[in-house]
Amino acid sequence: MKILKFGGTSVGSVENLHRVKDILVSDQESKIVVCSAMSGVTDQLVSLVEHVKFEDTDAITRSIHRLESKHSDVIDVLIQNEDIKGTLKDGLSLMITELFEISNQKYSEIINSQIITYGEALLTYIFSGFLNSLQIHNVLLDAKDFMHVETVENPNILKVGKRIEKVLEESTQSSIYITQGFVCRNNNGDIGHLKRGGSDYTATIIGAAINASEIQIWTDIDGLHNNDPRFVDNTQPISHLTYNEAAELAYFGAKILHPQTVSPVVGKEIPVLLKNTFDPEASGTIISNKTYKKGLKAISAKDGITAIKIKSNRMLMAHGYLRRIFEVFDNYHTSIDMITTSEIAISLTIDNVSNLDKIIKEIETYAEVTVEQNHSIICIVGESVINDKNSYKLFEILNYIPVRMVSYGGSNNNISILVDTKDKIPTLRFLNEKLFQVRHEIVV
Ligand code: ADP
Ligand code: ASP
Ligand code: MG
Repeated sequence: MKILKFGGTSVGSVENLHRVKDILVSDQESKIVVCSAMSGVTDQLVSLVEHVKFEDTDAITRSIHRLESKHSDVIDVLIQNEDIKGTLKDGLSLMITELFEISNQKYSEIINSQIITYGEALLTYIFSGFLNSLQIHNVLLDAKDFMHVETVENPNILKVGKRIEKVLEESTQSSIYITQGFVCRNNNGDIGHLKRGGSDYTATIIGAAINASEIQIWTDIDGLHNNDPRFVDNTQPISHLTYNEAAELAYFGAKILHPQTVSPVVGKEIPVLLKNTFDPEASGTIISNKTYKKGLKAISAKDGITAIKIKSNRMLMAHGYLRRIFEVFDNYHTSIDMITTSEIAISLTIDNVSNLDKIIKEIETYAEVTVEQNHSIICIVGESVINDKNSYKLFEILNYIPVRMVSYGGSNNNISILVDTKDKIPTLRFLNEKLFQVRHEIVV
C-alpha cells in the first residue's frame, strides 16, 4: 500500500482537484490518500479562532458563511450529477452547523484544534464525493479514529498502526482510502493537531504505521530545491536526499516539509518522494537511506530565532556550569538549537520563547543575560558537508554580513550560521551564488 499526500494548493481549486483525481487513477496500487485543507482555508480558520476568543458572534457568522460559500461553490462546479450534488450540499450544511456549534463554545485549546482542523474534514468530504460521482470507488476514513499520537514530537507508531488495521478491517474494501491530514487525538482522546503544515507528518506517520511501500508528498514544486525558491532565483531540485539530510533541511526551515516529516520513517526503508502535482512527470526528490552523493546539497533558513548570551566570570574553569544552564532550559521544556562557548560566555539559540522570562530570571541569579530576537539560522546541509572542499567559501559571508554565531563540526552533515533576520535574504542569495552557481566537482 502507498501513501499519497496532497497539499493545500494541490487541492485548492476545482481544476487542481481534477489533477489529483488523474494522479490517483493513473496508478492501480492501493493507496491511502492524505489531503490538506484547500489553500487559504486553515488561515481563515485560524482567524475564526480569534473571533471565538473574543466571542465576536458577528465575525464568527461572517467567517463561517465565507467558508461555506467557498466549499459550496466548489461542489457546484465540481459535481455534475444533480443527486450527488444535492446530497453533498446537505452534508456540507450539517458540517457547517457543527462548525457553528463548536465556534459558539468558550475558547479552549481543544476548541482551537477542532476549528483549525475543520478545513481537512470539509475538503476530504467533498473530494470523496467527487470521486464517487465519477464512479471511482473510494472510502472516506476519519483520521480521528486512528491518529492517536499522544505527543506530537513522539507519536506511538505501533498504536496508530493497530488502529488503522482495525479501521481498514471494519471498512468496505477499496483501492483508494481518503483521509484528513493535520488532525490527531492527544493523550486524553481530545482533538489536537500536528502543527501548521502537519499533513506531511500525517502521511509519514501513517506510512510508518502500516509499513507502506512508498510515501508520495504531492505539492506545487518539483521536489526539494537547493535553496529557498521564495527568496532566491535559479534554485535547482535535488534528485536524492538521505533521511538525515531531509530531516536537517526540514527542521531548519525548508518549508516544503513539516519539520518532523522524516522522523517516523527513519530506519524503516520507506522511500519518501516529493512530487509536483502540476508536473507529475518531473522526477522530484527521493528521500531514502541511500547516499548517492556526498557533500553540499542545500541551504535552508529558519526564522523566529532568539539568541541568548550568558556571561559570567564564575564560568571560568568551573565544571558543571554548562549543566546548570542546560538544566534551566530543560526544566522549561525549551530546546536549544545552536551553541557556542568562550571562556566566560555561552551563546545559544531557542525558537520557543514561551518560558523565556522565567528562564532569564533563573539564570540572572548567577550570570549576566543578553537576549537578541529576530534572528535566522542559515543551515548548509549535505552528508559530510564539513569535508566538502568548497564549503570554506561560505565563510566569505563574514566579509559582507554580520554573523552572530557559527556552528561547525557539531555534525558532519550541517554547518549553521546565525544572522539577523533582516540579513537572511542577502545571505541566502550570497551563499547560493558562492556555493552553487560557480560550483566545481565535489571532492570528499
Ligand atoms: P503544500 O501546501 O503542498 O504542503 P507548502 O507550501 O507547504 O506546500 O510547501 C511548498 C512550498 O515550499 C513551495 O511552493 C516553495 O515555495 C516552498 N519552499 C521553501 N523552501 C523550499 C525548498 N528548499 N525546496 C522547495 N520548496 C521550498
Ligand atoms: N492545512 C494545514 C495547514 O495549512 C495542514 C497542512 O496543510 O499541512 O497548516
Ligand atoms: Mg506544507
